[in-house]
Amino acid sequence: VASIFTHGFAACAFGKIFTGEKMPPRFWAWSVACSVLPDIDSFGLAMGIEYGHWLGHRGFLHSLFFAAFVGFSVATFAMGKLQRWSGRWLALAIYFSAVTASHGVLDAVTDGGLGVAFFSPFSHERYFFPWRPLLVSPIGIVRFVSDWGGRVLWTEFVWVWLPVGSLMLAAMGFRRIRARLNARPEKE
Ligand SMILES: [Zn+2]
Repeated sequence: VASIFTHGFAACAFGKIFTGEKMPPRFWAWSVACSVLPDIDSFGLAMGIEYGHWLGHRGFLHSLFFAAFVGFSVATFAMGKLQRWSGRWLALAIYFSAVTASHGVLDAVTDGGLGVAFFSPFSHERYFFPWRPLLVSPIGIVRFVSDWGGRVLWTEFVWVWLPVGSLMLAAMGFRRIRARLNARPEKE
């Protein structure tokens, strides 16, 4: 867990980078859903599944394999009538896979807990990136509304919201400039 706000924000920013089209609400709803979905494995802790178990927190549901499974499922079943294997279907499948995978990537730059089982179910090894600027987010809202929560949000603001948000604005600006150049009437 980085905080759910940050996972959701990253998802929306990726969406804005992914396309300049006006997308239907379900596209955004699924983007946010995919970005937080892996954390349903944190309920396993309450059910007695150990953190280090392959179905435990940051285990299989945080893997790249699961991300691809989710991405292709969402593109196939949740985006309306899309021609299977069309370019648009494939682009959306890869996009939703990437959004889901972004969750594990953000978790792997936090400073606490166990690492992320990126290659589950093929390997259950847990990984962190060597550089981990984010404070780990406490599980549960009560503990989040505390001093700790404030510090978590600050590191996430500096290391995720600022860079990802800048990238998003750059992509949007670039598209606007390109549209304006294309719209300029030819003279002479
Ligand atoms: Zn997580």
